[in-house]
Amino acid sequence: MNIKTTAMLTLYALTAPPLYVLTAPPLYVLTAPLPVQAAEPAAKSITEDPAVTFNRCVQTLESQGVIFTRLEEFTTGKGCKIADPVTITAIRQPGRSIDFPAKPVLSCQYAARLATWLSDVAAPIAHNFAKSALKAISSGPGFVCRNRYNRKNGKISEHALGNAIDINGFVFADGRRIAVSKSTTGTEAERRMLMALRISSCGYFTTVLGPGANPAHKDHFHLDFGKHGRTWNYRICE
Ligand SMILES: [Zn+2]
Repeated sequence: MNIKTTAMLTLYALTAPPLYVLTAPPLYVLTAPLPVQAAEPAAKSITEDPAVTFNRCVQTLESQGVIFTRLEEFTTGKGCKIADPVTITAIRQPGRSIDFPAKPVLSCQYAARLATWLSDVAAPIAHNFAKSALKAISSGPGFVCRNRYNRKNGKISEHALGNAIDINGFVFADGRRIAVSKSTTGTEAERRMLMALRISSCGYFTTVLGPGANPAHKDHFHLDFGKHGRTWNYRICE
């Protein structure tokens, strides 16, 4: 390899699109403190009345500008349950309004984390790429009483605990809707926006799956709060 070739390869390495970020270990999420009080579950080792925890979480949602309805704790059998359920309909903050037309049912702790990611990171990223304000999140219903991948047997889905949402598109103030399925087929701005949203979500959730992870996730981002192993440090970010 001559010097010129080496120099060109070096230049390419320095200027090529940073695709490595898709596979590189997300070190930043391992060391940074998680943004909202732990849904995590360390809270479970503390003998606090769940109603007190729920009340505090409700205050957090209110402070975040989340428009929601507080529901009664419920259990539907087969291990499906939410101790602190809420239905969220919007996030309203000064200069920002993001609707959830699907009105997903989520655990309060999960809803708070979702609102944090959207407010602090996702909405600014989306606005930056789309040149229009993020107006709504196109999503699934959040809570669904089922096992992972709808299998008859096996582990229960985080959806069955209110700890997951499936996002299939982002809607903007100018009327555009950017579908998650455009992760590889959209315009450069759309693809980069979806990649940035997906990567950033790995810092806020413990499981992130999307197009390319497997066929079941070809058209949506699955963001959940499942615990992998003994600590909350391990992430699945595919
Ligand atoms: Zn899902």
